[in-house]
Amino acid sequence: MTRQSRAELREELLSRLPRWYTPWLHLAFPAASGLGIAAFALSRVEGLRAWQLACVPLFLAFGNAVEWHAHRGLLHRRTRFLEVLYVRHTPQHHAVYVADDMAIRSARELALILLPAYGVLALLALTSPIALAFFGLGQPNLAALWVATVVSYVLGYEWLHLAYHLPEQGRIGRLWLVQALRRHHQLHHAPQLMQRWNFNVTVPLWDLVRGTSYRAPGASVLPGALRRQP
Ligand SMILES: [Zn+2]
Ligand SMILES: [Zn+2]
Repeated sequence: MTRQSRAELREELLSRLPRWYTPWLHLAFPAASGLGIAAFALSRVEGLRAWQLACVPLFLAFGNAVEWHAHRGLLHRRTRFLEVLYVRHTPQHHAVYVADDMAIRSARELALILLPAYGVLALLALTSPIALAFFGLGQPNLAALWVATVVSYVLGYEWLHLAYHLPEQGRIGRLWLVQALRRHHQLHHAPQLMQRWNFNVTVPLWDLVRGTSYRAPGASVLPGALRRQP
């Protein structure tokens, strides 16, 4: 796609947003509800044992694997009944933002970056059987840690992904951590790489495990994938 056709698609997608769409609410609602739920869950923890706390990195690694699979399997492939996920991601998000043109132009473009506002709560509901199983096994602390980890992970995903799509020279875009992690996602936004490489958006752990972390030929040379698209 040329820069011009990307600009037209961006305009068209933004024109489809309802008039009442409010970007800061799109950011604030999942943050407030998610952090509230995580804080409540953590307030229920009693007599925490070291081995229970040691489960948190395992939960995070599991989340990283789910992120990889969901991104590769649902966002980059049409799946019956879940086609909307593919459409929002591959023909829209990836078509508007390419490796050398990642930044949003206006706050309303949060609609093209973030999950729907109910996304955090939906993912929490989807993973609640695991929390219930921990309860059933007499491990309420693990249930609480699980809930807090799921919420924190999804919010971390959302905020990092948004940070990668903010202007590179802005206050957030310039942060060392954002710069370091953005490069991985930026390569994923090269049209010729997106179906095969760099499916992790947060930390590229599962990309390393599955061998899908893209290594550009010629270490310090900017890969062709990142050269300006026509
Ligand atoms: Zn992206
Ligand atoms: Zn993608």
